[in-house]
Amino acid sequence: MSLFPEIVEGFFSASIIAKSVQKGLVEYQGVQVRDFAFDKHRTCDDYPYGGGAGMVLKPEPLAAALDSVEAKGKRVVVLSPAGRLFDQSYAADLARAEELVLVCGRYEGIDQRILDTYATDEVSIGDYVVSSGEVAALVIVDAVYRLVEGVINRESLEEESHTDGLLEYPHYTRPENYLDKNVPDVLLSGNHRFIRQWRRAKQLQKTRINRPDLFARYTMTDEEKKWLKELEEQGE
Ligand code: SAM
Repeated sequence: MSLFPEIVEGFFSASIIAKSVQKGLVEYQGVQVRDFAFDKHRTCDDYPYGGGAGMVLKPEPLAAALDSVEAKGKRVVVLSPAGRLFDQSYAADLARAEELVLVCGRYEGIDQRILDTYATDEVSIGDYVVSSGEVAALVIVDAVYRLVEGVINRESLEEESHTDGLLEYPHYTRPENYLDKNVPDVLLSGNHRFIRQWRRAKQLQKTRINRPDLFARYTMTDEEKKWLKELEEQGE
């Protein structure tokens, strides 16, 4: 549900999501809320009761747009910086829904009665404010569709950042030497056990540096403590 569905449409026509649409794994419908405005100027926003800056999205066009997709009884996600914080487990939860209805705010946001009547979720993509709900909706769409069965192989998903509470290890590709920097020897060794241990140690090290909050919540096994210590003793 958006006043600017064209912002979202382009996203569905490129790269992996376009292929997922072609294969029938994902379906998308953009709904232009303005089509449901009832006055001759197709007004969708109005001044806030009680005063204050900015405009608020009116409830009637949004309600009619939501009714057009029979939103009641479905998972209806309203994008809002005042919502519950989105993360990987929230994405996994949304990916289990057969259908999601995403409501994009603009200006100061949407009339509270729409939230009270239709929303099952009020979701924030982070502790900052963007000006368009469409941008926030795309973050949700992108994080969710890739978890849909058949879109991306399981192995890639299992090793990603945030899947098991740690950040991902660093990646390298050809060439072996770039700007006098070599690919770490272990990755060229062909020894899969050593590679796995090195990657785990790197995950732990990176999480400790970049996200001490996540690291504090993670309980290392004795083996992981040993691998991390070895990595740091090697001067990495
Ligand atoms: N007045 C609102 C507030 O302070 O909470 C901010 C409105 S913002 C300028 C316009 C729209 O962008 C919102 O209605 C929402 O749909 C979207 N938006 C902005 N930041 C967001 C965030 N962090 N998460 C989700 N949606 C966001």
